[in-house]
Amino acid sequence: SITQMYGTNLAFYSKAIGDRLSEEQQITAEMNQALLNGEFVVYYQPKYDLETEKLIGAESLVRWKHPKRGFLPPDTFVPLFEQNGFITQLDIFVWKTVCGQMREWLDSGLPCVPVSINLSRVDIYNPQLPEIIIDILNQQQLKPEYIQLEITETAYMDNPKQLIATVDRLKQYGFQIDMDDFGSGYSSLNMLNEVPVDTLKLDMRFLRGAQTTSRGGNILFFIMNLAKWLEVTVVAEGIETREQMLYLRGLGCNYGQGYYFAKPMPSDDYQHLLSIQTANKNKLAVSILSCE
Ligand code: C2E
Ligand code: MG
Ligand code: MG
Ligand code: MG
Repeated sequence: SITQMYGTNLAFYSKAIGDRLSEEQQITAEMNQALLNGEFVVYYQPKYDLETEKLIGAESLVRWKHPKRGFLPPDTFVPLFEQNGFITQLDIFVWKTVCGQMREWLDSGLPCVPVSINLSRVDIYNPQLPEIIIDILNQQQLKPEYIQLEITETAYMDNPKQLIATVDRLKQYGFQIDMDDFGSGYSSLNMLNEVPVDTLKLDMRFLRGAQTTSRGGNILFFIMNLAKWLEVTVVAEGIETREQMLYLRGLGCNYGQGYYFAKPMPSDDYQHLLSIQTANKNKLAVSILSCE
């Protein structure tokens, strides 16, 4: 009967919510200890100049090596940590890890290759944010020029004024600001007008869209030209094939990252890549060799 079906569905529905709730509660109970246990690890995904295919930097991406649940990607815990506030601590851990790592690489004679770090929408509301990052940099004797800060475009929609104020302060300190997930929000053009970003990181959906419809291709072409007029650089994300890379290069896109070049990798693997590229200097973009 209908009542029975309804009852079954309802039971199924509430069980699904119950499962999710208890999983969230469990993660919340575990997160502090996980940080102490070193279960959070930072991966690096290389970024390349599309014209020359030389390495120009990397993006740091956090992962959770959970003893029972396995290797967890950030999408499974970052949103929860943004809700319960733990993201502040986790991001500080990531920034410290990245800066410590960069210091080690510089000390071992590797060139200064910038690393970009992701800021959460929550970090943007922290009035101490610039000072916290500057403090971490100072401890490792690094300059703000060595790191790029990625801010997700959707944070602009949460609170445009706050985002503009934070970006202004960070830029005064000398940080480069990358607008992450550009085009995924609903007011991308307003954002471009109001926020003095240095770089647009194109949301992957643009690349996928450009390849499926001519309209999508035209939009991508427009964005590339707009970026040129505004004198901001463009990084395309999610480049998986040589065809996509050549297509973006043809459109005048400056930089890119994606599985075509390399997947996010542990720091040792990235360090190895860095040393190979350094030994073979023509594989490294010239500008980054003169960082120090
Ligand atoms: P994002 O900053 O936009 O990072 C790009 C995502 O695209 C990464 O997912 C990366 O692994 C993935 N990706 C790279 N190349 C390709 C490709 O060719 N194909 C496909 N399909 N995907 C590719 P990931 O590592 O799972 O990170 C997801 C999101 O989690 C990030 O998006 C970022 O918003 C957030 N996140 C990562 N690390 C941190 C962190 O340390 N702090 C904060 N607050 N957020 C972080
Ligand atoms: Mg990012
Ligand atoms: Mg991105
Ligand atoms: Mg993204």
